Amino acid sequence: MILYNLVLAGDNRAVNIKVDDGKITGFPEEALPDQLQLSFTDALVFPGLINSHDHLDFNLFPQLGDKFYSNYTEWGRYIHKNYKDEINAVLKVPIALREQWGIIKNLICGVTMVVNHGENVKIKERLIGIHEQYYFLHSVQFEKKWKRKLNHPLRIKHPVVIHVGEGTNRAAQDEIDRLIRWNLLRKTLIGIHAVAMSAAQAKRFKAIIWCPESNHFLLNRIAPVNQFKAVAKILFGTDSTLTGNWDIWKHIRLARKTNILTDTELFETLNRNPAAIWGTQNGEITPGKDADLVVARIKNNQNGMESFFAVEPKDILLVLHQGNIRLFDALLYKQLMHLDLSGFSMIHIEGVSKYVQGDIPELIKNIKQYYPDAGFPVDVN
Ligand SMILES: [Zn+2]
Repeated sequence: MILYNLVLAGDNRAVNIKVDDGKITGFPEEALPDQLQLSFTDALVFPGLINSHDHLDFNLFPQLGDKFYSNYTEWGRYIHKNYKDEINAVLKVPIALREQWGIIKNLICGVTMVVNHGENVKIKERLIGIHEQYYFLHSVQFEKKWKRKLNHPLRIKHPVVIHVGEGTNRAAQDEIDRLIRWNLLRKTLIGIHAVAMSAAQAKRFKAIIWCPESNHFLLNRIAPVNQFKAVAKILFGTDSTLTGNWDIWKHIRLARKTNILTDTELFETLNRNPAAIWGTQNGEITPGKDADLVVARIKNNQNGMESFFAVEPKDILLVLHQGNIRLFDALLYKQLMHLDLSGFSMIHIEGVSKYVQGDIPELIKNIKQYYPDAGFPVDVN
């Protein structure tokens, strides 16, 4: 496959990208013969986003909470008391359907790899990468026997990923110290949220997963990751729709507005940094890397980086996961109609038509059988 005339985010050069067997193989300067050729105008290309924190099965929930909380345990108790019916309505939907929607939520935003926090995902058909090579602990407060699990002598191959310091009070600070103190085998730790974390504590973590929108919604405070970036890699996460918008681009623009990271630093929390921490072959547009690529419309003649931060799901023209087309805008239909497109269905995002691999109308119909009030950000009629 060859993709022609794409502006690289952050670089502004226009390139052609060749993809073979799921990998990026080069930047041909001139047209080459190939079975599949796609030409673009005014389009941006960037590595498929890596969402380092989500709970795929929790993305049918609305945001739950109506005030700010001092930490996640207070919020957890509050929502179980005040939103019992809302929670039960969603949990009626079988987990496989909820996970499938979680994958689609990410895909339609241009996420090509997600780190799902929880047990391994049940479904086999994976339109995007689901990274599961880590040991998950929920949190110091909500994970039973966390000390024993943390120090399990056989679990040494992968990092331990845990929600930590999700709060603004003393308890949230103290739990970080407890976690560090009880990491007796000095396992590699990756902390999620870290709102209450200090720079000294951050030194004990290999990476921090920043979920600014979720932090802002729950705590009205955002983790000061600029204080951690010298000692830990910063990765970006959305968390689920329980605490944030379904659209990761809204989270990214909120993060950018805070000026906590520079544009380049923020960009790299979504690609290069997580690929290095998770040990995956994506996150860069370089020959030899996985062809996890997203092409989006450039609006208002903005340069590469400005147009990256302006992307909305409706602007996405193409999503490739390991060289496979997972989503394309109806604008590309004529260039793709010679392929077998029977496995794709059509959806509309703010009135813009996209073809997505899989039967999305059927998925939504199935979910509504269990949860008639489910709301979706896409239209399938
Ligand atoms: Zn979470």
